[in-house]
Amino acid sequence: MSSQTPKDFLKFLKNPDFIDGIYNYCDSWCDRCAFTDKCMNFAMRKYKEDQSRQTSTEDSLTEVFQQTTDLIKQLIEEKGMSWEEVVSQADTATPIIDPHKEANKHRNVKAAKEYTYLYGSFLKKEQGFMKGKGVEFQNDLNKGLISVEEAEKALLRIEDAFEVINWYQSLIYIKIRNACQLFFEEDLSDFMIDYYNGKAKLTLISIDRSLAAWLVLQVHFPEKANKISEILLHLEKLRRQIEKDFPNARKFVRPGLDR
Ligand code: SF4
Repeated sequence: MSSQTPKDFLKFLKNPDFIDGIYNYCDSWCDRCAFTDKCMNFAMRKYKEDQSRQTSTEDSLTEVFQQTTDLIKQLIEEKGMSWEEVVSQADTATPIIDPHKEANKHRNVKAAKEYTYLYGSFLKKEQGFMKGKGVEFQNDLNKGLISVEEAEKALLRIEDAFEVINWYQSLIYIKIRNACQLFFEEDLSDFMIDYYNGKAKLTLISIDRSLAAWLVLQVHFPEKANKISEILLHLEKLRRQIEKDFPNARKFVRPGLDR
């Protein structure tokens, strides 16, 4: 077990190199992120991984949880409050509307969910078409119609497009649902309004990148143009709706990620 105390843990969390809240508005694609050394979320995950190398995963998570709990207890005590007071304060607010239910009914959330279905059915129906593309490139190579470099470049672009589409398809739904749910919360602070605008912006960026990736597929798979066009139109509609419903989203500056 690690000998870290709550104070050590707090010191670790207060690394001045961290960009405040960068992980709130990123796409969670850490493998492609240029800010891993400035991200507390990434550092915490790494910390947990390092811990689990020394102990069992369960022990490690228990310890992180315990340290966090101790830290919160310490902060509450410093404010001269008790756990009971904090819990009773948290229980008092009864929402008049249920933001969770409202979010599920929201047109953007429904459209985002529909997109995940369209994506799923596209992949299911079109299984094996990548293999077909490989054979096609091979034939073109044999006939001298394209060079090895051209074929490799095209395959890499297609592969990247699939990765991008795959990464963002569920993120679009999760993040816009998040933004819509917050939107229906009552008495939001300015910070929370920024927060949902940030989530909406992340959704828009995820859509921007997905649209670009689908266009790559459309260029390379003209025989699938009808289906891909349907998906492109669906995403474009969703993008416009979000821009209309969250007019300040694009203006939101995500810490560390937007200049
Ligand atoms: S900011 Fe980068 S490192 Fe941190 S969670 Fe997001 S993608 Fe991962």
